[in-house]
Amino acid sequence: MSAKNLVDRIYEIATRRGFFIPTAEIYGGLAGAFDYGPIGTLMKRKIEEIWREIFVLDEDNVWEIDGNVILPERVLMASGHVENFVEPVAQCKKCNAVYRVDKLVEELLNIPGEGKTPKELEKIIKENNIRCPACGGELSDVRVFNVMFPLLIGPTGRLKGYLRPETAQNIFINFNRVWLAVRARLPFAIAQIGKSFRNEISPRQFLYRLREFTQMEIEQFGTPEIFAKHPRFHEVVDLEINFVPAKGENAGRTIKIKLGEAVEKGIFPNEYFAYYIGKTYLFYKRLGIPDEDIRFREIPDYERPFYSKMNVDVEIRLSIGWKEVEGTAYRADYDLSRHSRFSGVKLAIQHNGKMVIPEVIEASFGIERTMLAILEKCFRPENYDRPWAWFAFPPYLAPISVAVYPLLEKEKAMVEKAKELYRKLRKKKVNVVFDAKGSIGKRYARADEIGIPFCITIDHETLEDDTVTIRDRDSKEQVRVPIKELEDILNKLISGSVSFEDIKKRYPLVGKK
Ligand code: ATP
Repeated sequence: MSAKNLVDRIYEIATRRGFFIPTAEIYGGLAGAFDYGPIGTLMKRKIEEIWREIFVLDEDNVWEIDGNVILPERVLMASGHVENFVEPVAQCKKCNAVYRVDKLVEELLNIPGEGKTPKELEKIIKENNIRCPACGGELSDVRVFNVMFPLLIGPTGRLKGYLRPETAQNIFINFNRVWLAVRARLPFAIAQIGKSFRNEISPRQFLYRLREFTQMEIEQFGTPEIFAKHPRFHEVVDLEINFVPAKGENAGRTIKIKLGEAVEKGIFPNEYFAYYIGKTYLFYKRLGIPDEDIRFREIPDYERPFYSKMNVDVEIRLSIGWKEVEGTAYRADYDLSRHSRFSGVKLAIQHNGKMVIPEVIEASFGIERTMLAILEKCFRPENYDRPWAWFAFPPYLAPISVAVYPLLEKEKAMVEKAKELYRKLRKKKVNVVFDAKGSIGKRYARADEIGIPFCITIDHETLEDDTVTIRDRDSKEQVRVPIKELEDILNKLISGSVSFEDIKKRYPLVGKK
């Protein structure tokens, strides 16, 4: 399937079945903006929970905050966003279309555009006679456009602010309050899941480039001595990742490297950085992204902020190419030092008897790009193995885990029994739906389409002996199990602690495929 067909197909199902709804759709929509629908909301929560399990709950010393999205201008002056969070743009003199010039140059000439100055880009445009791709008109000079959304706060309109372009700034400006509140000592980390906003010049590719999106960010605080050794490094030392170095003999090529070796050879600056790379790799593996579709790309110097000691992006192979979904950065003490200077409040912590401004390692994930990757990787088109399209989400990630069906809608006793089971599962916090309409085959197809891994059917036998069938989405096979054991079986199947293959060995198979 071509990239366009695949994205179109996923878009169609995702909007029809309640993953996403184009924002203000009934008014014609808004570019780069989607609301989460009922299914998407559940899935987003699952992704957040898995992230929290790996980055927060699995660690001893990580604290979460939930910061304000409106920030006063001073914060973003200090962070450097007011001055530097800009993209080079040019406008067509004929049709007025606006282009992000670095991307235009990359697409048309296949040369790197990021990191070039407006003057350099203008020169490239002139030399290569680049014109408006839409109408062939002449392009204007290149100017820079700040992609933050400005705000006027309060009735006088005199207090300037912005919607935050990343969640990280709340973490830095609250640093003193947080460590004092939780009595933290170095090393510790602050994490945050929340909305960020960027006035992207050309939002596109469905969930890839949005103007409002959700980030999951973690800022690890420490010192160079602390970062050198991670107490749990042995857990990731042998993980082998696909790595694209920015320098050396393999620059630009994908190589396989173990995290231990990457630290030993000085490719990664320290064990903490490598540990975060390892956890990030495990996170994407847990989301079901295959090894060969995950790579870690070292950001070359010309794309990297001057203060950062190393940046590595996770890229996932999507139908639209290798695309960034996450970035890990060793930001040194830039953020806390800048905010200390601009605010006049020293953001520092007691360490070994003196006050120090800690260094930071940051891992920054986008949920919607991650979601797009999951949707693509799990998508099974029509006639892959059944006449309808479906999603092969791992059970623990599926937005709806279970569907409960009475075999026949007109059989009151079956409907009641099914409703009773449905309510019981809901009370146990299982994401479950009830569906009585249409043939059982149609209901299975509807369930497959949103990736429900297990369907329970209440039939004639249920009324006689209190057993139900569980239909497995992937194999399309069914087993019959006693209702009293169902909850336990479902819990194990959903968490992934047992597979349907295991269940098949213990209970009789029924029906046909
Ligand atoms: P790009 O170069 O693609 O604009 P970026 O390098 O500016 O992205 P970061 O500032 O590193 O992105 O943000 C961290 C993460 O936030 C990204 O890896 C991505 O998952 C997410 N993200 C950033 N911008 C967007 C956006 N416009 N739409 C959706 N997700 C985004």
